[in-house]
Amino acid sequence: MVESAQYLVYLLSAALFVWGLRRLGSPATARSGNALAALAMLLAVVVTLLDRGIVSWTGIAGGLLAGAIIGALLARTVKMTAMPELVGVFNGLGGGASALVASAEFFRTFQFTWEIEMIGESALLVAARAMGGGPGLGAPGAASVALGVLVGTVTLSGSFIAFGKLKGFLPGRPVVWPLQKTLNLILFLSAVGISAVLAAGAGGVIDLGAPTVLLAALAGIALLLGIFLVLPIGGADMPVVISLLNSYSGLAASAAGFVVGNPLLIIAGALVGASGLILTQLMCRAMNRSLANVAFGAFGGTGVQAGADTGDRPVRRTTPEEAALLLAYAQSVIIVPGYGLAVAQAQHEVRKLMDLLQARDVQVRFAIHPVAGRMPGHMNVLLAEADIPYDLLVDMDDANPEFPRTDVVVVVGANDVVNPVARDPGSPIAGMPILDVDRARSVVVIKRSLSPGFAGIDNPLFYNENTFMLFMDAKEAVSSLAREVKEA
Ligand code: NDP
Repeated sequence: MVESAQYLVYLLSAALFVWGLRRLGSPATARSGNALAALAMLLAVVVTLLDRGIVSWTGIAGGLLAGAIIGALLARTVKMTAMPELVGVFNGLGGGASALVASAEFFRTFQFTWEIEMIGESALLVAARAMGGGPGLGAPGAASVALGVLVGTVTLSGSFIAFGKLKGFLPGRPVVWPLQKTLNLILFLSAVGISAVLAAGAGGVIDLGAPTVLLAALAGIALLLGIFLVLPIGGADMPVVISLLNSYSGLAASAAGFVVGNPLLIIAGALVGASGLILTQLMCRAMNRSLANVAFGAFGGTGVQAGADTGDRPVRRTTPEEAALLLAYAQSVIIVPGYGLAVAQAQHEVRKLMDLLQARDVQVRFAIHPVAGRMPGHMNVLLAEADIPYDLLVDMDDANPEFPRTDVVVVVGANDVVNPVARDPGSPIAGMPILDVDRARSVVVIKRSLSPGFAGIDNPLFYNENTFMLFMDAKEAVSSLAREVKEA
């Protein structure tokens, strides 16, 4: 009876997760989608706490308290610009937790089987029933353990490398060494081999001998594999890596769900895995690259300013007064936000500038590149925070034909996503779709210097005849522009 009520609540949680995800598909409904998914998670946690298999309430209470304190501290202290790193760490910890759950179940079952061998078969069945489970994992269970440990640990180490790259502790450029792919292949095949041995041992086909050593070896190999897979991925490909690791953390959770026999964990993990994969595919499409190319291509900046022969060419500097005149007398303006907008937290100033221009009958729109900023949807979140109407946001494919008809484009802290060098087949970012802002009549670029963006590649846009560089912090620049537009 209790069990069927538990499964009914699990079913309700799963439905709420799906509904929540559906609502996350549009910024207008995303907040309620988030709330629905949080409610589903609360239901799931409460109902799981009522499970008869719970071993220690004190351990759980301690974990909840520690987690709540860390979560509250992070939520209050982590800056918006550090969100991508935080998401990376969350993915990694999720993967690590799934690997630990799978390992714990493995040891519990083996310990259990060993005790039974010592005290006899009939005791096995009594104890098994008392613990609500069968006498052993069996081959499918051990295969799930191996999958959970492998994928979970790869996610853990890979996410920490991605965190280091985003934070600047590790080089953002691809780190490559001889025979890298061969080494990765050997590691992967060894992991598959150990998993097969574990499954065969748990299925009674062979004698496992030292299961602890095997599982530790699998975790060690997975740890190395995660590091070696992410280190060679550089610069502009990080969005794909983060989405893929997110998907892996879901797969690992799903595998852990199979191991502990929890249907909701299987479903929730599968939802994270599938949505992460869809996001990965969208990011690959945004970069015009295949997943294999990202994983094995070692693409991205080299750390030196490569890809554009800019020499010592002069740039046209402008002032807020001059740029404001261009804007105030334009008919159409497109604003292109990038990572610098997030750093400067200039979204509210951008909103003020938009209001002032609209009051002068200037058509204002925002062109959004899918990988602008440092996490998928970064720009949408920032602009929504400043209540910029969603219908003024234009996707890259719709924005590009508009640029030649646009009087002024204002690039606010964007760099890689507007770098025309991507059109040059010989450039390091050849083929990456960009916002064609250089085709507008005039371009005002707001940034603090000529330094390159995340991909480490110089940008010839800054040296064009129709580009005006406003070297200032984005918040200061946009607020000065708004002041000048008001007075124009
Ligand atoms: P970029 O990183 O290419 O450029 C940002 C620019 O903002 C810099 O050149 C910097 O120039 C400027 N900037 C920084 N702070 C300020 C400030 N306070 N005021 C004004 N300008 C500032 O950003 P984009 O958005 O164009 O491109 C995103 C890049 O990040 C892509 O390469 C993408 O692949 C990568 N990426 C994206 C992720 C995602 O999921 N969206 C995840 C990980 C990486 P200066 O220092 O001169 O001011």
